[in-house]
Amino acid sequence: MIPAPFEYVRVGSVDEAIAALSADEDAKLLAGGHSLLPAMRLRVARPSTLIDIGRIEGLSAIREDGGQLVIGALARHHDVANSEMLQASCPIVAFAAAQIGDPQVRHVGTIGGSVAHGDPAGDMPAVLLALGASFVATGAGGATRTIEADAFFTGLFETALEPTEVLTEIRVPKTSGGWSFMKFNRRAQDWALVGVSAVRTNGAMHVALTNMGLTPLRATAVEEELAGGADASAASTRADEGTAPPDDAFASSDYRRALVKVLTQRALQEAMA
Ligand code: FAD
Repeated sequence: MIPAPFEYVRVGSVDEAIAALSADEDAKLLAGGHSLLPAMRLRVARPSTLIDIGRIEGLSAIREDGGQLVIGALARHHDVANSEMLQASCPIVAFAAAQIGDPQVRHVGTIGGSVAHGDPAGDMPAVLLALGASFVATGAGGATRTIEADAFFTGLFETALEPTEVLTEIRVPKTSGGWSFMKFNRRAQDWALVGVSAVRTNGAMHVALTNMGLTPLRATAVEEELAGGADASAASTRADEGTAPPDDAFASSDYRRALVKVLTQRALQEAMA
């Protein structure tokens, strides 16, 4: 389908992007366009103006800051996947980025777009939730605030970002323990029917689920079992607790509940090996 008519502006700085957002409440930021443009073609999204932030300088760098790695919101999935810094110090992020879509998607889509879109079937949101990432948003006057991952994903395609804020940075901890990212799809390059991210951080195994509800979810029952000394097999039997998986053309809710237990067991076995 053809999108509804819209205006297009390209901005050169975060300040300009915020000013453009403030001037038009129906405007939307355009990063890689790989989620927004398909939604516009389906007319699910009808922004009046697209504010292209794709060429803002300095927003795609990946750098170290003490015990954290800082990923610019405009970093492309390809660059995240191939970052030697991430591969060495937070490998689950690099690995997961390499599983997103196909090479074309990875060369254009951005990590910031992935999380700001708030799609529970997206790969990166659950990875960042498991890691306890934090998200830096920049608003009017250049003021920044940091939103923790547990508070960032608020609903289906909804996040804690204000309409006039730009997501500028994603901060992840350096990790040195075991980790696993399991994505189950029917065809290569598809979105996950279900995904599981497991990573040891701050001395505990954190587990987060993809496509098991309206937002990415922490598998808290599994984490409690592990903290109480259960093994991967026992802990994974509780992987669907507190979830509300979709029932759609790709898989039933019951199938997803069964699948998430199997994937969680495999992910924990890999992460704890
Ligand atoms: P855009 O589409 O430009 O923007 C998405 C939303 O985020 C918009 O609402 C926009 O306004 C907002 N936004 C973007 N950047 C910011 C920012 N810095 N601050 C505030 N708001 C912002 N994803 C997966 O996880 N796994 C897959 O397997 C997968 N497969 C795909 C296959 C295909 C064929 C396609 C087209 C996409 C696929 N994707 C997949 C989605 C892809 O990862 C997108 O790149 C990503 O979801 C959105 O990133 P983007 O940069 O393209 O964002």
